[in-house]
Order: sequence, then C-alpha cells, then structure tokens
Amino acid sequence: MTVTSSVLPMLFTEVEVVSVERLSPSFVRVELGSPELAHFGVDGPRYDQRIKLIFPDPVTGGITSTDDADESWLATWLDRPASERGHMRTYTIRDVRGSGARTTFIVDMVLHLEGDLVGPGSTWASKAAVGDRIVMLAPRRGYPYGGIEFVPSPGVDLLLVGDETAVPAICSVLEQLPADARGTAFLEVPVAGDVQDVEGPAGVEVVWLAREGAELGQRLHDAVVAHLGIPGAQVEVAPDEVDPDLWETPYYSSSGEEVATDEAGPSGTYAWIAGESKVVTGLRRHLVNELGFDRRQVAFMGYWRRGVAMRS
Ligand SMILES: Cc1cc2nc3c(=O)[nH]c(=O)nc-3n(C[C@H](O)[C@H](O)[C@H](O)COP(=O)(O)OP(=O)(O)OC[C@H]3O[C@@H](n4cnc5c(N)ncnc54)[C@H](O)[C@@H]3O)c2cc1C
Repeated sequence: MTVTSSVLPMLFTEVEVVSVERLSPSFVRVELGSPELAHFGVDGPRYDQRIKLIFPDPVTGGITSTDDADESWLATWLDRPASERGHMRTYTIRDVRGSGARTTFIVDMVLHLEGDLVGPGSTWASKAAVGDRIVMLAPRRGYPYGGIEFVPSPGVDLLLVGDETAVPAICSVLEQLPADARGTAFLEVPVAGDVQDVEGPAGVEVVWLAREGAELGQRLHDAVVAHLGIPGAQVEVAPDEVDPDLWETPYYSSSGEEVATDEAGPSGTYAWIAGESKVVTGLRRHLVNELGFDRRQVAFMGYWRRGVAMRS
C-alpha cells in the first residue's frame, strides 16, 4: 500500500505517532513521523505554520486513503461520507525534530475538558498511542503552501494574544523571533497547571492567564484592554454576530473587507490574535473601532467556535 502522494504540491501522507506526552491537564503532545517529512520545508521561519490532520471517524474508525491522490483529491474526499474518510482539523507545528527521513513534527493538542463538547480531534488526542496512524497535509519544500499568518513589519511592537488553541502557535513564534523583537504575549489557558516554559526574546514579555473557571476569554480580554489602555467596558458581542470562520488578515478577509495592498504597512503595533471566535471578535472591535488599528497591522483568527464543530 502506498501511504503518500508524491504528485501533489504539498505533503499528503500517513504519519505515525512516535511519542505521546501528557504535557499538562489540557495538553497532549504528540510527535508524528513519516519518511515523507524529509520533504517538508518552508521559506524562512515556520512561526504559526498550520497543518491539517485527518482523524479517524470516532465510530467507524474510518480514515482516508492517500493512495493515488491527485489535484482533485479534496473534492473527491469531501464527496465521501465522514464515516469512511474521517475528519480534517487544523493544528500548528509546535516544533520540528530530527532531519531527513527521521524528521518528526511536534503537535500540542488541546483536550476539551470544560463541558462535554468533544470532537474527532480531541477524542483522538485523548487516546493517542505510539504506533497510531493518521493522515497529514503539510508544506512540501519548494512549493507554495501558505498557512503562516504571522507577518509583522520589521521593527514594530508585537501584540500576541491567544487562548489554549493558539498556545502552540504563540510559543512557536516566540521561539523563532529575532533576538531584538519587542512586545507582549498574552496566553489564556484553562488552569494554572497548563502554563508552559517558553523561551522568547528578552524584549517580549510573556503573560500567562489561567482561567480557573472564569468565563472563556474574559481574562484575556481584560488583560489586553488594560495593556492597550482602552477605556470603557466590555464590548458586547451577540452570538449571531460571531463568524465561526472569522479570519481577518492583511491578505484575506472572511467578511469580504478590502484586502490591504501595501505590504509594507505603517510602523506601530502589530497584533496577532487567535482563539475562540467570539472572544477574538470582541477584541477585534476594540482594536479596530476604538484604537483604529490598521488592517495591515492585524491578524484576527477564529481558531474554533464554542458549540460549533469545525467543518470537514
Ligand atoms: C490555524 C489553526 C491552528 C490551530 N492549532 C491548534 C493546535 O495547535 N492545537 C489545538 O489543540 N488546536 C488548534 N486549533 C484549533 C482546533 O482546530 C479546533 O479546536 C478544532 O475544533 C478541534 O477539533 P475537534 O475535532 O476536537 O472538535 P470539533 O469537532 O471541531 O468541535 C466539537 C466541539 O468541540 C468544541 N471545541 C473545539 N475546540 C475546542 C477547544 N479547544 N476547547 C473546548 N471545546 C472545543 C466545539 O465548540 C464543538 O462544540 C487550530 C485552529 C486553527 C484554525
């Protein structure tokens, strides 16, 4: 059986779990390997590079085949019932280890411990064991893939904000920033035990906020508003005002706003904000409406939406 496709401009391959570590109450770290990862590569730092993982259907165990995949594989894949093809979800490359055919990716996966809202990704993560196999889509060296949204102009102040799903991306960014980078990172995690050690430049302050039962995103919101000196109360965001696919970057707008054309952007603060879509929407309103942040200086990304399963 072939386990990969060499005809696609990205890696589309089966990967095997090489190690599993329960990092903390809410995070499972999995290390995924395949000889195909020898062909992984991006231009420049990986920063928040996203990848796709295709998990087995929790009921049938059905997982997609990479046999003979060609350019039409996604349309063909989507036509098949989820019970046969599994479920695709988005994750971040937290780190890359090894080299050549022994290259592995580290992926930190959040377990949904608050409430009983689980999905195929968190279900798989909670049971992951060495030898398990899933399918991955990732950048192939030498081919455009996209998926890196962290693109600040040189010399700007950085504002990195995220909940637990964005912790892998923010930690990856912090570890790859140039030594003279400056700014602040706010990371909200479910409990104090989820706080991680992360190495970043001396000029970037890292602030961990443990929810410990508070409303999702409240601590993040309050900390960012205080940091930016925004007066006034919380911006109310009605549930029907939340775009579960919220994605506003200088290069793409899920709401159809005009996309910036001047790639240089002005100097000032660059804000990268990711997490639950309603929380990100509230912060976006503060930054755009009250502080007049320039579109070229922001990336607002809904990484997940409470109560809504990702489409796949
Ligand atoms: C660019 C990008 C990068 C991402 N990187 C990571 C990463 O590195 N690690 C990571 O863990 N996640 C990451 N995410 C978020 C992840 O894709 C979503 O959380 C996804 O919904 C998980 O899929 P699932 O199958 O577990 O749940 P789904 O089937 O999508 O959802 C089922 C239910 O679970 C709820 N749910 C989903 N996520 C959470 C959560 N985190 N906590 C509580 N409830 C939840 C949903 O609201 C829904 O009710 C990333 C998302 C994006 C867009």
